[in-house]
Amino acid sequence: MARILVIEDEPDIQQVLEYNLREKGHKVFVAGKGEEGLRLAREKRPDLILLDLMLPDMAGTEICRTLKGDAATRTIQIIMLTAKGEEIDRVVGFELGADDYVVKPFSVRELLLRVQAILRRSQGSEHGAAQGFQFGTLRVDREAHRVWAADTELELTALEFKLLMMLYDRKNRVQTRSALLSDVWGIDADITTRTVDTHVKRLREKLGDAGVYIETVRGVGYRFADNPEETSG
Ligand code: CA
Repeated sequence: MARILVIEDEPDIQQVLEYNLREKGHKVFVAGKGEEGLRLAREKRPDLILLDLMLPDMAGTEICRTLKGDAATRTIQIIMLTAKGEEIDRVVGFELGADDYVVKPFSVRELLLRVQAILRRSQGSEHGAAQGFQFGTLRVDREAHRVWAADTELELTALEFKLLMMLYDRKNRVQTRSALLSDVWGIDADITTRTVDTHVKRLREKLGDAGVYIETVRGVGYRFADNPEETSG
């Protein structure tokens, strides 16, 4: 399951994308305008954005450049939806940094395959680590819900375990407090984003030296380090 934002002004395409992506189990957000799209991208921190090139209020290229130029949104994968003859070279070039593009009219099946490919690429180790993983001094057995730091087993609550997995599975991507809140606690939970901070703090303490793998992104949220050797604390 991934979080996918669709920025597209044509209602027909919006609906087709929304329906099919939901069908695949993804959480889908939809914006019909560029401004709204940028706002949702910052707020919801999706894993992937399907971005139409021609929007009523601003160009998709501008949105792409803005997102890729901002440290908080840079790691969101972007697939551009372009019409034939539009500036494809520039779109997929390094200039804008889109991760892939699909030419309209596209087949839904083809688009879904592209989406899966991009998500697999960005989530990298996640599939290989379905049963468990080792990250630096941290070792996790997912099935058994057991966690070790430097060979000492830790006693995590179910919630702390879930929080840790959520962060790890989105390695190197910033997770906002509100995204964590809705994914770990459920949207209806009667708690505040401050609770997220409290739990992350407690989780870090339990992890000991491995706590540095969970990085704080000031003013935004948290991120699991990409590499155990390059943690900034
Ligand atoms: Ca359009």
